Amino acid sequence: MKKLFLKAVLVSMFAVSGLSFGADKLYVGTNAEFEPFEYLQNGEIVGFDVDLMEEIAKSMGKEIEWKNIAFDGLLPALQAKKLDVIIAGMTATEERKKFVNFSQTYYESNQMMLVHEKNPVVKSFDELKGHDVGVVLGYTGDIAVSEIEGVKVHRYNATSEAIMALKAQKIDVVVLDSEPAKNYAKQNPELKLINTDVAKEEYAIAVGKNDKELVEDIDKALTELKANGTYDKLIKKYFSEK
Ligand code: GLN
Repeated sequence: MKKLFLKAVLVSMFAVSGLSFGADKLYVGTNAEFEPFEYLQNGEIVGFDVDLMEEIAKSMGKEIEWKNIAFDGLLPALQAKKLDVIIAGMTATEERKKFVNFSQTYYESNQMMLVHEKNPVVKSFDELKGHDVGVVLGYTGDIAVSEIEGVKVHRYNATSEAIMALKAQKIDVVVLDSEPAKNYAKQNPELKLINTDVAKEEYAIAVGKNDKELVEDIDKALTELKANGTYDKLIKKYFSEK
C-alpha cells in the first residue's frame, strides 16, 4: 500500500514537471524530413532512426511518444525538458556536447554537395567560394559552409526548400549530409551528387545534460542491438541500395 502510494506520488511529480524520466514513457523528438533516417510516409514518422529508437525503448521497457519538430527547435526543447531524447541524424559536435549528453555513435556520415546538371559549377568543397550555396539552418552543413570566406550562404528552414531553390537554379549548390543527399539525387535526376572530403560526422542520440542514467541505458541497449544483429538488419532495410 505504502509502495503504491509512493509510486502515485512519483508519477504525479513527473506529470507536473512534464518529465517522463523514470516513468514508462519517453518523449522523443525528431525532424521528419531527413530520409532515410526520419521522414513522413502517409502522415506517419518512419525511418532508420525511428526503428532504432523503438528497439532501444523496447529493450528499456519504455514506450515512445514521438514529437516531430523543426531541427533547430530540438535542442532547446530538450533543454526545456519538453523532450527526453533526440534522435534526428544529429551529429555529435563539440558545440552541442556543451549542452547535451550524447550516446555512442550509431552512424557515420559526411557532407556532400548537390548541383544542377545544367550548372555544375563546383567539383570540390574548396571551390564553393563566390557561389550561392544553400544549407539548412543550424545543420552541420550550415556550420561547415559558414566557415568558408566569400560564400554566399542561403539558409533555409527545411531541406526540401533548399532542394527546390537548387532545382529552380536560384542557387548553385546545396550542401547536405550524405544519405539524404544521395536520396535527393536519386529522386531528382537533374541533380548531380558530389562527394566531399569534409571530415566525417558521427550521429548520436542526445539526452539532457543531467540524464546520465538515461544515456547509460540507451548506450547499453545500443551495444546489445549492435551485438545481436538488430542494428545490421536495420542498416540493410534502409541502406541496402548503397
Ligand atoms: N547531421 C546534421 C546535423 O546534425 C543534419 C541533421 C538533420 O538534418 N537531421 O546538423
